[in-house]
Amino acid sequence: MSANEILDRLSETLASRRNANPETSYTAKLLAGAPDSILKKIGEESAELIMAVKDGDRAQIAHESADLVYHLLTLLISCGMSLDDVARELALREGISGIAEKESRGVKIDADGCLFCRIVKGEIPSQRVYEDEEIYAFKDIHPIRPVHVLVIPKRHIASLADARETDRAVLGRILNVANRLAVENGSSDGFRLIINTGRVGQQEVRHLHAHILGGPTPVGPMLRSE
Ligand code: AMP
Ligand code: ZN
Repeated sequence: MSANEILDRLSETLASRRNANPETSYTAKLLAGAPDSILKKIGEESAELIMAVKDGDRAQIAHESADLVYHLLTLLISCGMSLDDVARELALREGISGIAEKESRGVKIDADGCLFCRIVKGEIPSQRVYEDEEIYAFKDIHPIRPVHVLVIPKRHIASLADARETDRAVLGRILNVANRLAVENGSSDGFRLIINTGRVGQQEVRHLHAHILGGPTPVGPMLRSE
């Protein structure tokens, strides 16, 4: 049986539940509480799918995807829509690349348009102090100490929270090169390395970067207590 046939049949079955008794039909109960009841389930199922993918469990991925498709179809029905509306939208996009399509909707794609990726590519000028095949280092545009150098992986990694096991080498390289860059740039007697991460770390540029801070005098206390 084709995926199309199953989806069509499921859509029909779900639509027919609209007038069913919410006491006896799960779908009718969802539709009665729409959209919140369905949106809540979609949130939960999405999280479960993420976990299944992270676990690499194919049976579970299929199971969670089926749950998600079921709830998505139910949501469409609650909005008075059907898979045909989705198919029409998909057909419109044919021939348009994913990136172009996202841009046309104003969706920012991480690596594309990322400030530091553009600096690595030379599209935006920077004061380079070091470069090798994996990392790039340049002076911070608004230095807060006499020595303020940023070291970044050339490949886009949004933050330390997004780094993976496979990024271990490049992260190690950043730490390894830090002392040399500090010394070469005027901080011969130590330095501070800071990697602001995410909201709590108040990271502003979403491309992982290490700040090397130093100069002739100590950089100051670590953080003020709250
Ligand atoms: P963070 O708050 O950790 O995300 O730090 C971002 C840093 O990037 C800040 O210290 C900025 O001054 C620095 N920065 C922003 N734009 C540029 C640029 N075009 N060239 C060099 N440094 C920059
Ligand atoms: Zn980037």
